[in-house]
Amino acid sequence: MKLHHISSSMMFVNTYILMDEKAGEAVLIDPGFINPELFQFLEQCPCKLKYLIATHGHGDHTGLLAEVKDRFGGLVCIHEDDAHFLTSEMAFRQFGGANLGLRPAAPDILLHHGDKLTAGDITLTVYHTPGHTPGGICLEAAPYLFTGDTLFHDDVGRTDFPGGSASQLRHSISVVLGGIEGDLQVLPGHEEFSTLAYEKANNPYFKAV
Ligand SMILES: [Zn+2]
Ligand SMILES: [Zn+2]
Repeated sequence: MKLHHISSSMMFVNTYILMDEKAGEAVLIDPGFINPELFQFLEQCPCKLKYLIATHGHGDHTGLLAEVKDRFGGLVCIHEDDAHFLTSEMAFRQFGGANLGLRPAAPDILLHHGDKLTAGDITLTVYHTPGHTPGGICLEAAPYLFTGDTLFHDDVGRTDFPGGSASQLRHSISVVLGGIEGDLQVLPGHEEFSTLAYEKANNPYFKAV
């Protein structure tokens, strides 16, 4: 399993591509909404995209799903509780997806807590971590933990958007992510990387239930 990371746009959205080059399969996590580097990368990528996963429904992460799917294929995956961001034109517009003439991509697979997605030697385990949005997820593919807008380096996601909940976010972080054993590299939806051990020791959300 090989990881490629792209930081794009003025919001420093993190896009991740996991690849098994031998099997020729790849998984894309959060294409972002302004990301020319992603298309350059995919044009020369030897792997076929199997899954296009959105960590949650916000347009800064999902805006390019439709274009990626049209050009490179792959199945659009999102948690059931955030699917409305992609199926409702209004929700998609409201969260920034329409600013650049982007359009929603209907989900192919609705994800749930505990689901596993496999592509070549890559296995991703889905953790439902609501709070930033109702259907936010984190994805584990050891040694990596993709945390979307749930957990950041020394920080957590905002809960003041519609559907956000501070108490749910506390539970998601302290109980759901807090229950993950061992150390993993935390790869968030924006900005800097961290580690689970560092966040457990320093991020106050891990201490509060
Ligand atoms: Zn978000
Ligand atoms: Zn975001």
